[in-house]
Amino acid sequence: MPFRCSPTPTACRASPQTFVPRPRHRQGPRSMRPHRAKAACRRCLIATACLQWALSHPGLTPEGSWAATTARERALLRQRLTARFGKD
Ligand code: SF4
Repeated sequence: MPFRCSPTPTACRASPQTFVPRPRHRQGPRSMRPHRAKAACRRCLIATACLQWALSHPGLTPEGSWAATTARERALLRQRLTARFGKD
């Protein structure tokens, strides 16, 4: 599914360092903060499409916060969806 652009900049575009983990030695005061990323995603107008895209592209979303989910939460969601609906 193509990922539509939001009419307004999303928080992950405006402040990507909040959403993607950096190596510990390169972390700064604005480095990834899962709770901040989740709060921003909950206000995002395209969160549903973002989650669908993130779940269907595990190779492109192995880390970081997408649609208020962590990598571990997305893996769990994928497992549950696969168990319920099958591999596709
Ligand atoms: S829901 Fe997706 S597009 Fe929206 S701010 Fe979160 S990561 Fe970015």
